[in-house]
Amino acid sequence: MPTLHTADLVVPVSSPPIPNGAVVVDGETITAVGRLDELSAAHPVAEVTHWDGTLVPGLVNAHTHLQYTSFATVGASRHASYVHWSEAFVQEYDLRRGEDWGTTARAGIEQGLRAGVTAYGDVVTDVAAMTALSDSGVAGVAYYEIIGVPQEQWQDEVKDRVTAILTSTPTSAEFRVGLSPHTPYTVDEPVLIDAADLARRLGVRLHVHLAEVDSEDDYYRTGTGPLVERIMMRVGRPWSVVARGGSGMGAAEYARHCGLLGPDSHMAHGVYVDEAGREILDDAGTYVALCPRSNLTVGGQPPPIADYLREHRRIAVGTDSLGSSQSLDLLEDVSLLAELAADGGYDLPDLEERLLHAATLGGAAALGLEDVVGSLEPGKRADFAVFAVGSVPDLVTEGSGTCVATVTGGGTRWRG
Ligand SMILES: [Zn+2]
Repeated sequence: MPTLHTADLVVPVSSPPIPNGAVVVDGETITAVGRLDELSAAHPVAEVTHWDGTLVPGLVNAHTHLQYTSFATVGASRHASYVHWSEAFVQEYDLRRGEDWGTTARAGIEQGLRAGVTAYGDVVTDVAAMTALSDSGVAGVAYYEIIGVPQEQWQDEVKDRVTAILTSTPTSAEFRVGLSPHTPYTVDEPVLIDAADLARRLGVRLHVHLAEVDSEDDYYRTGTGPLVERIMMRVGRPWSVVARGGSGMGAAEYARHCGLLGPDSHMAHGVYVDEAGREILDDAGTYVALCPRSNLTVGGQPPPIADYLREHRRIAVGTDSLGSSQSLDLLEDVSLLAELAADGGYDLPDLEERLLHAATLGGAAALGLEDVVGSLEPGKRADFAVFAVGSVPDLVTEGSGTCVATVTGGGTRWRG
């Protein structure tokens, strides 16, 4: 028997909000979305569940590292600089070697469900966390990460291991795998190029951190700046782009040169990119997952959200991990983006609608799952959340902490 979920306001995202709206769910799938009076007449035998508040598609956290959910002490407060933060992070990671990363990642998913998050772009450093999303019945892409791998090691051993992980992890319509070279400065250029090629041959998605750090541009352009020393310290020699005195290209152009951009790829952060850089990303069909709280925590600037909006770029939203953020509540980042957009002079009335789009359908598109999740449409997976607010602007500016129910695949996962 189908279930008719009704709410004071239903926001499909892919179409205008519906006061006194309803969503019909059969099994794991949405079969109809519309006005309550029409849908109840069309489905007289459906079981009816009424929710007080605003019902929206499950939120998509397009960039996080769920296995670092136990790193909250590192992400609790702001660090003086990226290097300071990075040292604190590495220290914590060394202390936690051998942790049961799958359990930690699943704990993060439980936190997300309480905040209406039902899908993830999750970067996985330790393979034990690779199936956390599918084990927990939430949608998303688990991106296996490669970091600090010299070319010889990649060819001799790592490439085969990565291939085995990506081809042996079970996938489904809503759960996929991908490959995440950490950043273009922590992975050597020949490995970046070959990893991008490998992802395409295996038909999996790509994801990198890009333009998160203010000195990244100098690193790619001229092979100089504090990141050079940082890499030398970790790997004992400069990567090839530094050894040849830089590429002459900025972050976005260098990422394109390495084959990292495309409609099958999305970036995290995109803070230190100018209009030309943003255009390169957008022309390639690449979404950017903006993570403003994380950027502030690691001692950086927030992303130029007003510019992203004015230029109509492809954007999504992420929390990043608890190693650089204070919670996995995506609406905290959404409300901060709204504030930053206003501070940046963005004053059009579509602000909240566009930010909700970024946190739902934008995130789904960033993960290549826009046909499966991200909006309320017949045929899509029945993933949605209800918040105790009366409108989209209220949801965007003060929705954090107001989630009253979260449903994934038609099943209620959390009730507040
Ligand atoms: Zn990250």
